[in-house]
Amino acid sequence: MDCNTALSFIEPFLRNEMSDEDKERFIYHVKNCKDCRNELEFYYITHAVFNELDKDMDAEDADYIAALDRKLETTQKGVNRRRRLRQIAAGAIVLILLAVALLLFIKQV
Ligand SMILES: [Zn+2]
Repeated sequence: MDCNTALSFIEPFLRNEMSDEDKERFIYHVKNCKDCRNELEFYYITHAVFNELDKDMDAEDADYIAALDRKLETTQKGVNRRRRLRQIAAGAIVLILLAVALLLFIKQV
C-alpha cells in the first residue's frame, strides 16, 4: 500500500468501514510509515476530542496515542481471529467433503 492509499483509508479506518484485507494492509503500512502514522494520530486525536466533547468528558488527561495503539491492536486481532475462523471453517468443509466421499465409496463397495 502506498502513502496516498493509506491516507485515504484513515477516515474509513476510524469509522470501522473497511474490509479485513484493507484494515490489515492499512495497519501494516502505518506501523512502518512514520508520515502516515503521524497523520493517523492527528486524525484520531481530532476524532477523539470531538467525541469526548460530545460525551462531555474530561479530554485533557485522556491518552489518545495509547487509545489509538489499542485500536490498532484490537483491529489487527479481530482480523486475525476472523481469518482463523475462516480457516477452521474451510478445514471443516474439507473434512465433511472427505467424509461424504468416503461414505459414497463405502456404499459402492
Ligand atoms: Zn505512508
